[in-house]
Amino acid sequence: MIEKYLPIIGENEMDSIFKIAERLRGISVLHVNSTKEGGGVAEILHKMVPLMKELGINVDWKIIRGDQEFFRVTKGIHNSLQTGNSYVPQGWKETYEKWQSINSSELPLDYDVMFIHDPQPLGLIDYRRKGKWIWRCHIDISSPESEVWGFLKERINKYDAMIISSPIFGRGDLSVPQFVIPPSIDPLSVKNQYISDTTVKRIVMKYDIDPERPFIVQISRFDYAKDPVGVIKAYKIVKNHVDVQLAYVGSPASDDPEGEEVYRKTLAEAGSDPDIHLLMLPPFSDLEINAFQRGGSVIMQKSVKEGFGLTVSEALWKAKPVIGGNTGGIPLQVIPGVTGYLVNSVEQAAHYSLYLLRKREVSEQLGKNGREHVKNNFLITRHLRDYLMVISYVLGFSGA
Ligand code: UDP
Repeated sequence: MIEKYLPIIGENEMDSIFKIAERLRGISVLHVNSTKEGGGVAEILHKMVPLMKELGINVDWKIIRGDQEFFRVTKGIHNSLQTGNSYVPQGWKETYEKWQSINSSELPLDYDVMFIHDPQPLGLIDYRRKGKWIWRCHIDISSPESEVWGFLKERINKYDAMIISSPIFGRGDLSVPQFVIPPSIDPLSVKNQYISDTTVKRIVMKYDIDPERPFIVQISRFDYAKDPVGVIKAYKIVKNHVDVQLAYVGSPASDDPEGEEVYRKTLAEAGSDPDIHLLMLPPFSDLEINAFQRGGSVIMQKSVKEGFGLTVSEALWKAKPVIGGNTGGIPLQVIPGVTGYLVNSVEQAAHYSLYLLRKREVSEQLGKNGREHVKNNFLITRHLRDYLMVISYVLGFSGA
């Protein structure tokens, strides 16, 4: 029920959502991405799709399929875009195009508006029959590898609009209109709603964490971009000064073939320290994630590449300051000395962790600021309104 958000966002914001939605009643919209579980894109769509439906838009959500080779290729594309180096295997273009063709014959591509998320299904545009097409880019494309970018660019320019998460991802070499829309969290979801301290303690104890001693938390897929090894290294420095524990919580994503390798490397770095907890939770462990974010004394998101980093807003909403990698969409959320600290190295991550562990009152103040910052900028209702605006734009109702 969209009205449930009223006490958080107020009448004006609610009214503006309904006003824009009125013009869009009855249109059909299809979201397409590559996974229903794991990662921020699926997390958002699970909340966004029902809200759009409630506003009278005929929304569906489909995922593309592919074999192991296809997902190896798309992970290679992803890494090439985010790092500027080539990670694509031989024959990648053929594999990519083969699966775009297969998916185009299996998916209904005849909606009024198509929302294509990330590079995996981007090439479906070649099979457009009707409708307006929006490419929703969730990753860092500020300095992509040139061959991969050239291949995608041709296709991106066929879209009617493109959405990026931060102004720093804006590109001067595209002809498509670019909109900046940061992602969002759902404040009413099981992952983000209020839960009591007793529930928090009970849950973390189930995973052998001592709730009476502080613990550092990072919630992230096992992905090089999230730097799990760096998190452990930072923890080890902190541990030399304070009796602390570490919980690194990560579930697998079905479209990420690299997870296992990264997990093994993280395990090796962790060694036999009983205070390091590397946890693989099943998908949709939302209450558990909520408990870890609320229970942690320091929340880290030490990414070295990040499109946005929903986990940052999730923690800030729980009034926890975040130590975040100085990259991608994290600086939109972590304002140094106001909502947390931005770091460029293991040493800096350790330094600010120690600082926050020692200065509880500073930590509390930053946490309060963080919650306010998320309330004003990164809630799903703002995101919904922005999506409605872009839909209005591509359909030519830009006066909405
Ligand atoms: N997440 C989860 N379980 C995990 C790890 C992550 O539910 O074990 C969630 C996390 O809470 C967040 C999303 O997955 O909602 C990750 O989104 P983010 O933007 O941080 O990173 P992405 O995985 O999309 O790169």
